[in-house]
Amino acid sequence: MLKDQLEKEISIANAQIEELELTTHVVSPENTLSDIITFENPSEDEVNKRKLKRVYMKKRKLLYLKDRLKNNFTFLCNGCGEEITLDRLLIMPKAGFCTSCAKNT
Ligand SMILES: [Zn+2]
Repeated sequence: MLKDQLEKEISIANAQIEELELTTHVVSPENTLSDIITFENPSEDEVNKRKLKRVYMKKRKLLYLKDRLKNNFTFLCNGCGEEITLDRLLIMPKAGFCTSCAKNT
């Protein structure tokens, strides 16, 4: 079930955020994400900040998908009618086709 998968992914993301916020001392995404600068050889702190940024983005997508589910939106493929996988939805939250149908169009 996509809903259960979403809940699971959200709690994983929350746990990762909590841990990374502690190690990087980043607390608010709005204020500090723009401060994250890329280096050729990133320090461990840099690596953690980048990881944290990715998790924030993932969580944002998960919450968006959860919100759509709550509004009774079903993530069914317009081609074959199968449910679109969470992996694909995380890459393309607005995907209308599953991976194999998208390939064949
Ligand atoms: Zn399909």
